[in-house]
Amino acid sequence: MSTTGCSITGTHDPTTRDPEHPGTCLLRGWLVLENSILEDGWILVRNGRIAEIGSGPPPPADVAFDYRPGYLAPGLIDIHLHGMEDGDAGSAEGIRRMREAAPRHGVTGIVPTLASASPAGFLRFLQDGSAEAQRGLRGARLLGLHCEGPHINPVMARGMDPQCLRPPDPAEDDELLEHGRELLAIMTLSPELPGSEELIRELRQNRVVAAIGHSAATREQIRTAVRSGASHVCHMFNAFPKREREPHLPDTASYCLESPELTLELILDLVHVSADQIELARREAGIDRLVGITDGMRGAGLGGGTFRMTDGRVYRIGPRGDCRLVENGVLVGSALTLVDGLRNLAMHLGFTLSEAARVCSTNPARVLGLADRLGKIASGFEADLVALDRDLRPLATFVGGQLVWTRAHESGSTASAA
Ligand SMILES: [Zn+2]
Repeated sequence: MSTTGCSITGTHDPTTRDPEHPGTCLLRGWLVLENSILEDGWILVRNGRIAEIGSGPPPPADVAFDYRPGYLAPGLIDIHLHGMEDGDAGSAEGIRRMREAAPRHGVTGIVPTLASASPAGFLRFLQDGSAEAQRGLRGARLLGLHCEGPHINPVMARGMDPQCLRPPDPAEDDELLEHGRELLAIMTLSPELPGSEELIRELRQNRVVAAIGHSAATREQIRTAVRSGASHVCHMFNAFPKREREPHLPDTASYCLESPELTLELILDLVHVSADQIELARREAGIDRLVGITDGMRGAGLGGGTFRMTDGRVYRIGPRGDCRLVENGVLVGSALTLVDGLRNLAMHLGFTLSEAARVCSTNPARVLGLADRLGKIASGFEADLVALDRDLRPLATFVGGQLVWTRAHESGSTASAA
């Protein structure tokens, strides 16, 4: 196999074709592995999965893409986002748009999230998700759905519509679990509400991740929730009591931090969570408990504008990418995409690129119970990959070994290779 010196902008076309090896695809770049970067590496893909990795002279393949001196990282997985670009979790069409937009931001798996809804609203969300899942693999994988609520402590509603909050209700929750059997992956709740212990146990039995969030639970209530099966924290540090402003409320975020059973979502926009808080979480919890998320809203990845939430309220995307309600300025989400978060970790917060990729891909895959096939560059794993330039901006995205997006096509480049 001969390779030509393929430039980064020209990589939308395979550098070589070798019909002797049908069905194989070779990707070249600096490989972002769990604990190291493999220089001048290659990934051989067969049947949508990573068959082999190595460095130096690569094996022959049917087609080859060369991203050197760029990186190849595991595709990013966002398990908490309400919208992206012109899509949101409020309809099947919106979820489809999110899936189609995600690869432009290096994201290969998403868990669309709905907050503050009526019982009927949540059922429709699960139905919309199922309808979209049946359309098969297009764009990013639909890895599940996240219900952020409705069993939320009104004291900690923050940006949520208070009228949509209610304590656990076995009849409503059974119906939700029934409809969500295939796709419901995460439910966020306040464990201090009556009935939450039973609900957490039921979620656990149904393989749904019970996430603690929007909570002012005491240390004892957090311990009880963890014993019942809670394993995750919804946007850590946000929608928890603030020590300075609410000293009369429990220090719930600290109790979550000190519970090794809990993985911790962090909104990586440096607006919701400060660099100091991320450093604290890293020091106290360790990298393997950190899960990068965006809490992204419709408009994320578009650069600004005014948009409407699924419940009708209007928000504006500010200069730092923060989404605030027009009516009162309350922060309701971010305009971040996960590759921006990866970049913040690796360029501004002292994480190595391998560590940042664990936070934005490996750990979220583990939260979803998919650690044996997603979130890592290792043989046998799905070939869900993002090629990044040296500034960590996406060049191309692969899902199941298929090229689903490339920057070169977007910028209208006519460069070709081979
Ligand atoms: Zn959210």
